[in-house]
Amino acid sequence: MTSGDFPPDAQATLTIDLRAIIENYKSCHQLAGGIESAAMVKADAYGMGIEQVAPALFNKASCRIFFVANLAEALKLRRVTPHAIIYVLNGIFPGHLDYFARHDIRPVLNDLAQVKLWADFCPEKSLPCAIHFDTGINRLGLSPTETAQFINDGAVRQKLNIALIMSHLACSDDSKNPMNRKQLDDFKAITGQFPGIPASLANSGGILLGPDYHFDLVRPGLLLFGGNPRPGHRPKGIKPVFRITGKILQIREVAPGDTVGYGATWHPGKPRHIATINIGYADGYLQMFNNRGRVYAGGKELPVVGRVSMDMIAVDVTDITISAGDDVELLGEHITLEMASEVSTLSQYEILTGVRERYQRIYSLND
Ligand SMILES: *Cc1c(COP(=O)(O)O)cnc(C)c1O
Repeated sequence: MTSGDFPPDAQATLTIDLRAIIENYKSCHQLAGGIESAAMVKADAYGMGIEQVAPALFNKASCRIFFVANLAEALKLRRVTPHAIIYVLNGIFPGHLDYFARHDIRPVLNDLAQVKLWADFCPEKSLPCAIHFDTGINRLGLSPTETAQFINDGAVRQKLNIALIMSHLACSDDSKNPMNRKQLDDFKAITGQFPGIPASLANSGGILLGPDYHFDLVRPGLLLFGGNPRPGHRPKGIKPVFRITGKILQIREVAPGDTVGYGATWHPGKPRHIATINIGYADGYLQMFNNRGRVYAGGKELPVVGRVSMDMIAVDVTDITISAGDDVELLGEHITLEMASEVSTLSQYEILTGVRERYQRIYSLND
């Protein structure tokens, strides 16, 4: 993906290992006991690039079912995966119907108004859809009252081609939370009303809650991209998929009495070597990492000192031998999403989807 107009090391780099995403997908399938797995590729495949990630999963991992948040994402996905099954989580609105039909995109219907809209649009059971039942997250999906109404409305159910029924867990990252069991029981009661129709409840955290939660289809996102909903216990076969590498622009010596960065928030207790690195908050490396982030270089974790600037951070490199022009890892195999999340208080999802445009992106797909 080099433009050729400038040298390859003119920017910091984001290296995305499509093979690792494929392997994580296969690991999800195994963690879910062999149940079919969809891929959640909303928000540009969690920031990793839907146009690269989705075809890799379709062609090399036989993933057939993809979920995106909105119609614009679905249309982008349709161009690169002409034969995939694509669901739109945000539902359907009156002006969108033709787009869904023309591009063979399936809506996830989230309330009775959407159910009616779709049933009236394709009354001959022609075009498939999913129905989303809210079992407690109170975000999207038919409310319990609407659910009861829908279950008893044979006429409208008759008109629909329901390819999937689904619900979404609110607390799947906390295996001890009693809400998981409650949502599971409520969803089970709903699935009982739709014999023969595939059902789906589990996101990444849900997969790790065990077989009761798997139903017919699991919907991982975070695990595909090397995140971990259960920090501390790495799920089997899940590995990091990307690396962010910054370059040292300059190294300077500072001594007691000096300060580093905006606001002069950091000052050394003894002489230190401070490297300035070409990544800042405009790249998505947010100020939550001020005086708390860590980078990896020379076989060691090194602390970010002072505030994150728009285009730069400062790192204490006193303990290693390194020079201007050398690379350091900001995220990747050594500084994992889990670690970065812990030090910054950002969620792993925010760190992933926060990765910005300015990096030179390098995709690898080594067989
Ligand atoms: C985003 C999303 C998922 C995937 O969640 P992860 O925690 O990233 O695995 C699954 N289902 C729905 C409805 C979602 O919105």
